[in-house]
Amino acid sequence: MTEIKNEKERLIKGISANSGIAIGEIFCVDNKKRKVLPKQIGKSEVDVHLNLFSSARKELLNELSELLDQLDSNSSAIIETQKQIILDSEIERRVSEVVKEQLLSCEFAIYKTFCDFIERLKESGSELFQQRIVDLENLRDRLLELVSGENASENIKEGSIVIAGEISPVELVNFHEQGLVGLVMEKSGVTSHASLIAQSLGIPCIVNSKNATEKVNSGIAILDGREGRLILNPSEKSLAEYKKLLRKIEEKEARLIKSLSAQSTTRSGTKFNLSSNVEFESELEILREYKINNIGLLRTEGLLFKGKTSNDEQFNFYKSVIESVSGEVIFRLFDVGGDKLSLGMEKEANPFLGWRGIRMLLDETELLKNQLRALLKVAGLNPGRVKILVPMISMEEEVIKINEIINEVQSELISVGVSIDKKVQIGAMIEVPSAAINAENLANHLDFMSIGTNDLTQYTLAVDRGNEKICSLYQQQHPSIWKLIQFTSEAAKKTNTPLTVCGELAGDVLGACGLMGLGINNLSMLSTSIPKVKEELISHSDEEFHQLAVKFLSAKTTIQIKEIFEDWRNY
Ligand code: PEP
Ligand code: MG
Repeated sequence: MTEIKNEKERLIKGISANSGIAIGEIFCVDNKKRKVLPKQIGKSEVDVHLNLFSSARKELLNELSELLDQLDSNSSAIIETQKQIILDSEIERRVSEVVKEQLLSCEFAIYKTFCDFIERLKESGSELFQQRIVDLENLRDRLLELVSGENASENIKEGSIVIAGEISPVELVNFHEQGLVGLVMEKSGVTSHASLIAQSLGIPCIVNSKNATEKVNSGIAILDGREGRLILNPSEKSLAEYKKLLRKIEEKEARLIKSLSAQSTTRSGTKFNLSSNVEFESELEILREYKINNIGLLRTEGLLFKGKTSNDEQFNFYKSVIESVSGEVIFRLFDVGGDKLSLGMEKEANPFLGWRGIRMLLDETELLKNQLRALLKVAGLNPGRVKILVPMISMEEEVIKINEIINEVQSELISVGVSIDKKVQIGAMIEVPSAAINAENLANHLDFMSIGTNDLTQYTLAVDRGNEKICSLYQQQHPSIWKLIQFTSEAAKKTNTPLTVCGELAGDVLGACGLMGLGINNLSMLSTSIPKVKEELISHSDEEFHQLAVKFLSAKTTIQIKEIFEDWRNY
């Protein structure tokens, strides 16, 4: 441990990007931007330089693919975008041109190509492109490292608080693996890529901390992610206070984990089921730790991101997922388009309203049937435990069509001697307002329904879920969402169709309590949200939940909903 120096305590302010507290040693990352000068090469060296570029590109793509395994779905979209930049044919064309026609080194060609794009984005003056500039700078510098063989990335000691101008997702994940406990960035915003990844990795983080790298040197510091401040040269008193606070937080976490072994029943004795949303194999470990038996949403798009689409690769992944739990798994068919992977599709004017989810699957029947074959084979081996969920349903015709195709694939499997689960259950995501309004009709063709509040919010409020400029309008707790959920819940009761909620609202304590009040007691969420949701749900009676939901339904704004919840909870 570093000695505590006798300097005065100093405070560096920033904005909270992820709460949590860390006490650790400062590690300042040198963010000097590199500059590459033009270097002439001979004609005979052209191929060597082009090969250097393509190997570096391949290696960087591999690094990014490996990151996908460690991140949740929100962060994986960031990495996916970075992969698409690296694969961009315009970048390849320009680098080759500089090498072949101007006979300049591959290092300079990469530098010039990326800098030209960055300049153009800077000239646009658009705030929206700010994050893309950082992506391009990060990717440029990593490619240059790979080409030159010089690894400029630094290693940190376990327990470090990193202070940097801005760091890339790759650097952040590497630091996390080396034992990073907190992060302070000078430039980034709360929704920058590094901040989002810090959130999914649970790293306390503050951003917008102006000139932080110039103000710090070495020694112990306290990072208070909740308040957005970094305390340098902390006094004995501050250290003691924060250590006490850290212990309290740890005790609370331990208490929450303990409540996982309690019965999942409300104070009235009504059972509820909390299951996990999963996308990557690396997320399965926590299910074992928390003793979670069911997966309420298994996103399968990750297989497409990684190019693992052969029947065997899919079958092995689905099999390992079902074998990791003792209960059921709801596998969702590939949901691509919109902000998700675009499969090299043509650019659409309105991708969120375009060729996404079931719309794409019904056109790409080979991709669909191949996925169904793998899933239905796994269902045959695990009767009653595999359910299939269809994304982006907006019309009844889509449900009828997908049922026909599933029946066709089941018959095909029987004809080649594969055992199937004849009663495999088929459900639809209710994530488009038309599906919620039409839920009663849809339910007649379905075994279950699952409300996706992430997209339901986006489409109901007409707010792009990934657009930073309007993120304050993206409100999953908005009264209009509660009304659509209630409408769907009534349809489910009327038709006797099991209903689940698998969007973020289910993993939010306010959301989970309101959903229970509407009689929805199957909730699926990020595994890490389960302890806090469970602790809240076991603490109230059915009547209390009901009263809360009634109030939510008469609220006019999200602010009112939050106030109602606070009053209800403190009552
Ligand atoms: C949803 O839309 O609420 C949902 C769970 O699906 P995704 O976030 O994958 O679109
Ligand atoms: Mg969705």
